[in-house]
Amino acid sequence: MSRLSIQNVTKYFGADTVLDHLNLDVEKGEFVTLLGPSGCGKSTLLRCIAGLAVMEEGAIMLEGRDISADLPKDRGVGMVFQSYELFPNMTVYDNIAFGLKMHKMPKDAIRKRVDEMIQVIDLPNKMNAYPHELSGGQQQRVALARSMANQPKVMLMDEPLSALDAKIRRNLRVELRNIQKKLGMTTIFVTHDQEEALTMSDRVCVMYKGKIVQMGTPEEIYTNPKTEFVARFIGNYN
Ligand code: ADP
Ligand code: MG
Repeated sequence: MSRLSIQNVTKYFGADTVLDHLNLDVEKGEFVTLLGPSGCGKSTLLRCIAGLAVMEEGAIMLEGRDISADLPKDRGVGMVFQSYELFPNMTVYDNIAFGLKMHKMPKDAIRKRVDEMIQVIDLPNKMNAYPHELSGGQQQRVALARSMANQPKVMLMDEPLSALDAKIRRNLRVELRNIQKKLGMTTIFVTHDQEEALTMSDRVCVMYKGKIVQMGTPEEIYTNPKTEFVARFIGNYN
């Protein structure tokens, strides 16, 4: 059974079909990237999985159970966005601890979990820093730690590196992938950046107008594009 199974997911905005009978299975520990131009439906698909948008048709199965009707907080899904959205008036520690407090985890367990997360993101000296005292890359690592702290079954990342400048973005790509592998974190990563998709992913799904038009390993997609759209879109990679 797949960790996550997206079945026939369809969404309209008015007369526009934004997600068109879309299917995707993601295996445990896999890093799958949705790659496509702006407006093709990447964010909307993540929002449907997370329960932040309502779909018209289809099902989202997590370990074989349909979670489509569950509240976002009950879905076992974590999300990281392009803008870090940390609480500006809280320290790094409190930002990471926030969701755990909400889930009424005991204080000792919270400390232990936050300590682990701070090790994972390698910011041991920033525990008591406030977001404005951190670089963009550091803030995004804290946002990642905050989402990971709840140990979601699936992590959704919506262009998490896009707001960062080129050099930090390259470093964080490697770092993010290392963390993901180390934790075996099942991940759907969204980007419009071909290089990011091809260098980071186990599998790439190329999206166009609400559909996955090709799915495969980065090598398959790069060497054997199935449509002219994919060929042209990937062709920008150098
Ligand atoms: P992507 O993340 O791939 O850039 P989105 O999922 O944000 O694409 O958007 C897909 C399509 O849905 C776009 O045409 C966008 O204009 C439209 N859309 C997204 N959100 C809304 C909304 N709240 N109301 C109406 N249309 C929307
Ligand atoms: Mg988007």
